[in-house]
Formats: sequence, C-alpha cells, structure tokens
Amino acid sequence: MQLDSKIPDGPLSEKWDKHRFELKLVNPANKTKSKIIVVGAGLAGASASATLAELGYEVMTFCIQDSPRRAHSIAAQGGINAAKNYQNDGDSIWRLFYDTIKGGDFRSREANVYRLAQISNNIIDQCVAQGVPFAREYGGQLANRSFGGAQVSRTFYARGQTGQQLLLGAYGSLSRQIAAGKVRLFTRREMLDLVVIDGKARGIIARNLVSGELEKHAADAVVLASGGYGNAFYLSTNAMGSNISAAFASYRKGASFANPCFVQIHPTCIPVHGTYQSKLTLMSESLRNDGRVWVPRSPEDRRPPDQIPETERDYYLEEKYPRFGNLVPRDVASRSAKVQCDMGKGVGDTRLAVYLDLKDAIEKDGRDVIARKYGNLFEMYEKITAQDPYETPMMIYPAVHYTMGGLWVDYNLMSTIPGLFVLGEANFSDHGANRLGASALMQGLADGYFIIPYSIGDYLAKSSHDTAREDHSAFNESSLQVETRIKKLLSIGGKRTVDDFHRELGHILWENCGMTRKEKDLKKAKKLIADLRAEFWENVLVGGTGKGFNQSLEKAGRVADFLQFGELMVMDALERKESCGCHFNEDFQTDEHEALRDDENFCHVSAWEYRGEGSKPKFHKEPLEFENVELTQRSYK
Ligand SMILES: Cc1cc2nc3c(=O)[nH]c(=O)nc-3n(C[C@H](O)[C@H](O)[C@H](O)COP(=O)(O)OP(=O)(O)OC[C@H]3O[C@@H](n4cnc5c(N)ncnc54)[C@H](O)[C@@H]3O)c2cc1C
Repeated sequence: MQLDSKIPDGPLSEKWDKHRFELKLVNPANKTKSKIIVVGAGLAGASASATLAELGYEVMTFCIQDSPRRAHSIAAQGGINAAKNYQNDGDSIWRLFYDTIKGGDFRSREANVYRLAQISNNIIDQCVAQGVPFAREYGGQLANRSFGGAQVSRTFYARGQTGQQLLLGAYGSLSRQIAAGKVRLFTRREMLDLVVIDGKARGIIARNLVSGELEKHAADAVVLASGGYGNAFYLSTNAMGSNISAAFASYRKGASFANPCFVQIHPTCIPVHGTYQSKLTLMSESLRNDGRVWVPRSPEDRRPPDQIPETERDYYLEEKYPRFGNLVPRDVASRSAKVQCDMGKGVGDTRLAVYLDLKDAIEKDGRDVIARKYGNLFEMYEKITAQDPYETPMMIYPAVHYTMGGLWVDYNLMSTIPGLFVLGEANFSDHGANRLGASALMQGLADGYFIIPYSIGDYLAKSSHDTAREDHSAFNESSLQVETRIKKLLSIGGKRTVDDFHRELGHILWENCGMTRKEKDLKKAKKLIADLRAEFWENVLVGGTGKGFNQSLEKAGRVADFLQFGELMVMDALERKESCGCHFNEDFQTDEHEALRDDENFCHVSAWEYRGEGSKPKFHKEPLEFENVELTQRSYK
C-alpha cells in the first residue's frame, strides 16, 4: 500500500490555489451523468451532498436517523473558528494555521492545516448567506468569543447551539436539492459494506432499518461522512447512534486507518454519576471564557464551595499556565483535572470532579449577559444535576468527546481506495494529536462545501470505468457477507446483552487507553479486548429477527465493530512510543509532566492496513515534513 499524500508543491499559501487550478474539471453535461453516494448527512455529509448536487452531480445521500437534522452535528455547542480578525486582536490565517498545528502537537500536515485556515473565512460567508443566525454585537457585526489554545477571539457562535444552526443551514441547502430532484435522500439506512470493483469504490450495501431489507446501491464514487468513533468508549459526549461501522467496513475493504489512538477527552463534561448511565453531557468549552476552574487547596477540605475562601482555592490552570489560564487546550486541561483528582482534591460524591465557577463573571457582567451567552447550557446543567449554576459552581470532569483518528486520506480527501472519499470527523486529516475547540465544525464544512467539490471532479474526470450496476457479482458477494453476519449475530442466543459487552469494552479502553496510557496497561487491554471479542461471538444475546426494525441487532453490529476496532486503537497506542497531544504515555513526559514528543522517531502519521481476520494489520508510516513551522515543545505557560 502506498501512502501518497499528494501535497502540492510551491509556497504554503499558494498550494491550494495552484492545486485547484491544476485539478481537472468535469464539464457540466458530464456531471449530470455521474452518480455519487454520500454516506452521512451531518455537517460534512449534508454540505457535500448539497454542493455536489448544486454542481450538477446525481447524489444519493444515506443516514441512520429519520432526518439529517438529527445527525450528531446538531449537538455541537460552542462555535466555529475562522480567521476573520473581526476583533482586530492580531488574528490572521497564519495564526489560525499556527495555533492549529501547535494545538495538534505537530502531528498533522502543514499543507492541510493551512488550507483549512484559508477556507475558514469562506465558511462564515457561506453560512451567513444561508441565514445562519450567528451571534452579533450591538452594532450588528458578527460576534466572536475565545476558545482553548488561542489568545485571540475567533470563534463564531449561535449561543450554545452552533451545530444546530449550521446544520439547519446545510439542511436547507440539501432540501433545496432534494426538491430539485438532484439528491435522493435515504433515511433510516445503515451502510454495512463498501462495494469495491476493480480496486475502486463503486457502491454500498445498506440495511433499511425499518424493513430490514438489504439494499444495493451503485455509483461512480462514494463519499463517507459518517462521523467519529468516540462511542467505542461506551460513555462519551457523542450521540448514541455515532459508530464506526461504515468506516470500519471500508477499512476491511482496503481503506487504511490512521492514528486510531488519537482520541480527544474533553475537560468540561458533567461527571459520571451511575453504573447504568448510557451517555455523558458536554458543558461547552466556551464556558471557560468566563468560568474559572478550581479545587480546594487541601484534599481534606470537604466544605461546600461557597464556604471555601479565595485563599484556600487552587485555581490550578491559572497558576500553572498564566499565559493561557483557563483557556489551555483540551488535552492539557483534561490531564490537569485528572492530576488534581488523583491527588485527592476532587470534589463531589465521587471525588472525580472539579469546579467550573462563573460567579466572578456573573458579578462583573450581570446575570442577563451571562444568560444570553450560555443560557441553554445552564438550563441543561440544572436539568441533569438539579443544581443551579447561577448560584453554585458547576462540577465537571473530562470525558471522551472527539476522535482525531480516522480513515487515512490524501490532500484530495481520497482514501487508499480510489473513489472512496472521507470527510468530517470520519477522516484523520487536520487536527493531529489534539483538536482545538471549534475546529471540527470548521473542518467538516471546509471538507463538504469547499474541498470535495473540486477534488471529486478531478477523480471523475480522470476515471474511465463503466457504469456500475447493482447486479454485478461484487454487490452479490458483499450482500451475502452482510447477510451471513446478521444471521450469525441473531443465532448466537447467548446470555449477555449487547450493552453489557459495550460497557465492558468502554471500561477497558477508558482505564487503559484513556487520558493517560502506559505500555503495561495497553498490553493488558489488548488481551482483555481480544478475550471480550471472542466471548461476544459466543455469548451475545440479540433478540428479534433481521426482517424488520430491530435496534438490538443494529447495536450488535456496531459493537462487534467497536470490539475489533478497540484492538486496533490499543495496538496503535502501543506502537507510538512517545507522548503527543491527547496520547499521553506516562513513560514519556517532561519534568513538568507535559507530553514529551519524540520527533526523530515518531513525526509521522500511523496508518494501518487490514490483512484479514486473525492477521495482524500492517503498519505504514506517512512521514510529516515541517518546512514552515519549527517543531517546539508545546508551552502554554
Ligand atoms: C456535545 C458535542 C459538542 C460539540 N461542539 C462542537 C463545537 O462547538 N464546535 C466544533 O467545532 N465541534 C464541536 N463538536 C464536534 C462536532 O460536533 C463533530 O465533530 C461534527 O459535528 C461531526 O460532523 P460529521 O458530519 O463529520 O459527523 P456527524 O454529525 O456525526 O454525522 C454522521 C452522519 O453519518 C451517518 N451515519 C453514520 N454511520 C452510518 C452508516 N453506517 N450508514 C449510514 N449513515 C451513517 C449519521 O446518520 C449522520 O448523518 C462537538 C461534539 C459534541 C459531541
């Protein structure tokens, strides 16, 4: 397998323009003859579908939910970055590029990240034109706020509902194309396999989640925008339906998987409160703009927060990182919270929480101003915890949130399977070992609105293949494999529920491949997951039949993939003998307990190639070259 990143030559700031000029175009008449499948209708998939249809392609869009509006993207709260420099506070495309490269601990491609920073400004214009109601200043200008890992304010937002508003914008554009007959929308469908003919992606097998029927769909190219895999950990801030199955099916068919161990743990989530909890809730990073994070100085101090005087509080982020304070990046803030709790200074019943306190901000700006900025987040917190954050500090703890790893893609967003493009959280692209807040929405929309429309055209213009037909033997083989697996799952009739297996997998991953890792634990986890996977295929209980709506069956397929993927994640973490960003291996740390990179040996993307059931995946490296920024020890002090 060749990993050719296809990064264009030339100066960094001119690469994308030059490349766009060099990409081949498809003439308007030919576009109408090309069929494109888009799997996923979140921000990445909906924006891609709408734009490709607007260009004239025939698009078929698939999603699990009953409407694209229910994609996980709707949950995004805090905002979307762009280098508009409306605040005149020193922002620029270069600064957004630099912050993002540094935030990712120098484990992403310079050219991709620079392009992302360039496109960020187009995204805001596009969304404003669609009517996305971004927050505005009194004078009518678009407002900005600060997010972690940056010293400028560049985050555009719509209260704590930015994802929802952006998705409504993309959905509006998508609906227009559906009405125009250019997009056929297939809701309640789950892609279960990728069909590859003569080495090229030519279609998918999808299960109709209502009727149970297996469907074959052929096309000239397939675009995967199926989201991230945080739910491998069972408890996460992701929507319950988020899964890895479409990406993993593609991996099994030859798409290489990059950096699977890069998982972002978000510092400000509502802590776990019970064994049978199924989901965790994020409290947006935007709250760290005004909120101060602290714990009691003494582990013995069990007084309620309002009785602990200022002098006996440890504002540990402000003290340790005076330059960035509460706005250090997520990996740093998460580990710092863990360190405080490990020292016994955690608060609440479980002692696995720290305070996020907005009292000073409420006193300074007034309750109304704070309510306007964060009102819905405060309401959500109160509904879940029965505590009023206007009166008492929130209690928060880190939780699994986002996955930087994903299917490997080149500069054109094409995977190692020709004709399979991967967008949004499903690809590994631009965030390196740690994503900065408000950068996922930016990347998903950059991919969907502004990159794929060019790069897919180049692929189609250069491809010469016959029109794929659903009666091709490759479709029958794929469909048969999917059917066999469904029958197998239904026939086991064991004693443990799917959720029970999932919960145990999540626990193994969280304890051994979570906020911190070390070789001994990772080796233990590898064995535990392999045993659990073997037990799953002997002892899982999946009720019902495959003939209709069966959520137990749906989940079983997804958990089977998570189990296999869990082993890959641990393998990847074991291979990377350094610490970088979210991948904090305790054996590699500075004297000040910060991540210690090994640029000489690990300045690369790790990409894994599937080699069949029971065989170890093959490891490949894509070296990362830095010509424009100097690799430094990341410091936020
Ligand atoms: C609580 C929360 C808050 C966040 N807030 C922010 C924020 O403020 N700013 C920011 O930049 N980022 C934020 N993020 C991250 C961001 O929301 C996501 O990274 C982004 O929305 C992912 O978009 P996507 O289009 O790639 O995937 P998704 O929105 O997850 O969409 C995936 C789509 O794929 C479909 N799908 C999945 N599997 C299949 C299958 N097998 N077959 C068919 N369809 C399938 C789904 O139905 C869905 O339509 C937040 C994340 C969380 C969890």
